[in-house]
Amino acid sequence: MCYLCTEFIMQKNRIVLSEEIVMQGLNMPLVEEFYTLQGEGYHTGKPAYFIRIGGCDIGCHWCDTKISWDPEMHSLVPIERLVANALKTPARAVVVTGGEPTNYNLGPLTSMLKEHGIKTFLETAGTSPITGTWDWICLSPKPQQPPLEQYYDLADELKVIVFEDKDFHWAEEQSEYVQNSCKLYLQSEWSRYQGNVEVMVEYIKRNPKWNMSLQAHKFMHIP
Ligand code: SF4
Repeated sequence: MCYLCTEFIMQKNRIVLSEEIVMQGLNMPLVEEFYTLQGEGYHTGKPAYFIRIGGCDIGCHWCDTKISWDPEMHSLVPIERLVANALKTPARAVVVTGGEPTNYNLGPLTSMLKEHGIKTFLETAGTSPITGTWDWICLSPKPQQPPLEQYYDLADELKVIVFEDKDFHWAEEQSEYVQNSCKLYLQSEWSRYQGNVEVMVEYIKRNPKWNMSLQAHKFMHIP
């Protein structure tokens, strides 16, 4: 068999395998997992086990987890092992983040976590259809790839990243779509924190439906 034919079959197998992995949700490309305190949004300060899954094509230029973009850079880990690792800690909640975790079928992972009495929290930009059973959904919408409509009903928390002034407009627009019960947070992009904080404080004082989300873990120098 010629070299080109072999390459084609390998490529074809890889794509088929990827589709299976996405649909089955039994293995995840794991970027990192760690037990820490949630640093952002409504659950700030509460201990949680974080599972960061690889793969995101949204491409925020300020993304602080660019290492998560290419799923093929990360080893596939069976969800049994992810759950077992979380259970080695006293964590009562697991935050599934990315990357963009909704690119995968999260049903099996959340079922397994719930069987062990673990609460399931999702951090998502809402760009792929929802799977899994969630106790808390934090929707962090991105203008270059807005969320699917279903997320506006599902979101417990809306967290909009403020990089520049026009992001306030994006935040207001997004807040029109979520349920009244949804908690509203503005969070400065980390590298802009010093420059943004004063403007954001004044904005929130004028628009008290919003809350400030600080990346408290970065101030505490924890993961
Ligand atoms: Fe990074 Fe999240 Fe933006 Fe994806 S959606 S590029 S992971 S900040």
